[in-house]
Amino acid sequence: MSTTSASPSALASGDGYDSDAPFLDVYSPASGAVIGHVPVASTADVDAAVARAKAALPAWSSLPIKERVQVIFRYRALLEQHIDELTALVTQENGKIESEARAEVLKSIELCEFAVSMPQITSNEVLEVSRGVECRIERHPVGVVASIAPFNFPNMVPNWTIPNAIVLGNTMVMKPSELVPLSVVRLAELLREAGLPDGVFNIVNGGREVVEALCDHPDIAAVSFVGSTKVAQIVYRRATANLKRALCMGGAKNHLIVLPDADREMAASNIVASMSGCAGQRCMAASVMVAVGPTDAIIQRMVEVAKNVVPGSTLGPVITAEAKARIERYITEAEAAGATVLLDGRGATVEGQDGGFWVGPTILDHVTPEMKIAQEEVFGPVLAIVRTPDVDGALAIENASPYGNAASVYTESGGMARLVAERASAGMVGVNVGVPVPREPFSFGGWNDSKYGVGEITGRGSIEFWTQAKKITTKWNQDAGTNWMS
Ligand code: NAD
Repeated sequence: MSTTSASPSALASGDGYDSDAPFLDVYSPASGAVIGHVPVASTADVDAAVARAKAALPAWSSLPIKERVQVIFRYRALLEQHIDELTALVTQENGKIESEARAEVLKSIELCEFAVSMPQITSNEVLEVSRGVECRIERHPVGVVASIAPFNFPNMVPNWTIPNAIVLGNTMVMKPSELVPLSVVRLAELLREAGLPDGVFNIVNGGREVVEALCDHPDIAAVSFVGSTKVAQIVYRRATANLKRALCMGGAKNHLIVLPDADREMAASNIVASMSGCAGQRCMAASVMVAVGPTDAIIQRMVEVAKNVVPGSTLGPVITAEAKARIERYITEAEAAGATVLLDGRGATVEGQDGGFWVGPTILDHVTPEMKIAQEEVFGPVLAIVRTPDVDGALAIENASPYGNAASVYTESGGMARLVAERASAGMVGVNVGVPVPREPFSFGGWNDSKYGVGEITGRGSIEFWTQAKKITTKWNQDAGTNWMS
């Protein structure tokens, strides 16, 4: 297995990297200080990583799946054993507060639990299709696969793909976000400790050029991507133009439809948690609240709850200075366009952490669907409230978004909940749940411009993406004779 590490000297001697390779600085979003380095992969480094994955493929893919899962059983135990350290690493490089970072590692553990169930759920299908003739379907790995990850979940998103793809017999080249590459280095070390053979899991660091090299590489059979819609489109087009299988998860603009009969306390705390958790940097974060009819009491309570979300204690920083500037620009432009700022997170500071990229929770009322803040992904702790008189109007606003990751409805009426769940144009729908992430064995994944490609990235649906089916038709019975098919 090829790994990189946070220390430049260790990196220079890491497999496959040129000791003169340029290094990429990794910053703490809470302080702005440099906390580590990783080497940038050259095209030759990408070739070397793919070659290692290709060399490891025959032995790894020919192991029975029951043997392959043993590595992930041990990896899961190591994630649990090292949870404090992995949590701290996520906080250091991504900025998440401790409880959010820990939840991310716990989710990685759950992802492993699903992966180790694969022998139970991927057993082959067999049927006697005519007298003496048997048809059987086997699932084979796709080959060397690439996995490209975003900055917002340095531990969990890599683990969306690592356990399932590897258990299903593939070997992998992972390209973590250049903003948060350190967690994956540690995951690689734990995989090695768990007994994963060399070459099955490989890391290449860098940005656009490295992703392009992976999309173009003739020995890579499949590319999975998680990130913004803009880049998801680029990667999907490039990988499929090179005749590869691709699954590209994009950005989001999640609408929460709030009806006047919603439970005030539950809705208010849940919506604030959705818009401000992980500093709003989740593809499942609440972005637009569509307030249907008289909902002022709920909005008022939301503002009270959000005032208790405090940068530096219950709210982490956003990822970069550019992200902070972008988020604050959206707020300023919305205000100039006529939105009412109920709670203003611009200019937030944290004592002793002056260099950090802080944005406080922000709630804007009377946003109109035409405003930029109602249409584009902000990716910060900002909620735009759009008012509408009825559910049809709310659904029209939700349906008009080109994205389709998640949508939620808050109501005490089962009938209204059912209606919204049916008509929302989103792959994941919540009823009184602001972050409706499907847990294993269910698959994660949006619709429309939030996902390109067929299949799912996690859960049962991922089996289709990480394998190819072989159909074997067999006849051993001479007496069966010949019919119109065989
Ligand atoms: P991003 O698209 O900027 O980067 C994602 C990856 O693409 C990184 O590894 C980056 O190095 C690479 N990349 C960047 N520009 C590239 C280019 N021009 N060509 C090729 N590769 C390039 O995303 P991000 O800012 O790291 O992450 C945040 C985004 O990810 C948000 O839009 C969020 O909604 C989305 N996201 C989506 C999901 C989902 O499941 N739908 C999950 C998590 C995050």
